[in-house]
Amino acid sequence: MSNELEDLINLFSKLPGLGPRSARRAILHMLKYKDTLMPNIARTVEAAHRTIKLCTICGNVDIRSPCSICLDDKRDNLSICVVETIADLWALEKGHVFKGHYHVLGGTLSAVEQRGPDTLNIENLVRRVAENNIREVILATNATIDGQTTAFYISERLEPLKTKVTRLAYGLPVGGELDYLDEGTLSAALASRKALA
Ligand SMILES: [Zn+2]
Repeated sequence: MSNELEDLINLFSKLPGLGPRSARRAILHMLKYKDTLMPNIARTVEAAHRTIKLCTICGNVDIRSPCSICLDDKRDNLSICVVETIADLWALEKGHVFKGHYHVLGGTLSAVEQRGPDTLNIENLVRRVAENNIREVILATNATIDGQTTAFYISERLEPLKTKVTRLAYGLPVGGELDYLDEGTLSAALASRKALA
């Protein structure tokens, strides 16, 4: 196998959800349509790299910063939904279940993997809540141990601000991840959110 091909497979196999086997299949598919698909993928990736920015307010990705959600004045600017990842934000947006603003943490706290608060976008959240007199913060971290720990930590950090802090009520067993919920469940989880004890 040529170096170029090996590099390509190695690169693709690092993507989440693609092991070496799926990476090989994806590359072979691209090679089958080498003259149409490959240049198209290369151009699209290059254009995305050039234009896509990380929103400095919420951590979403968009072609502008602040992103279009942060700039949308039709949304409730007194509530912030805190999510672990951009994929979770997209899941909530796709379900049209939330009309406020978002804050993307960029992961969770983890004792096992030694991820502390400074690895997450938490300071910006605390500042945002304080400076904008946010009425409600909805913690929509996953129903995993790390997700719960993170929600608890954030609620403690927000405590002095006296903002209402709620947590999604999950209609699924502990361990559930937001990105995998269907829209109905997501909507119900949001509607029946409860205050953190
Ligand atoms: Zn934003």
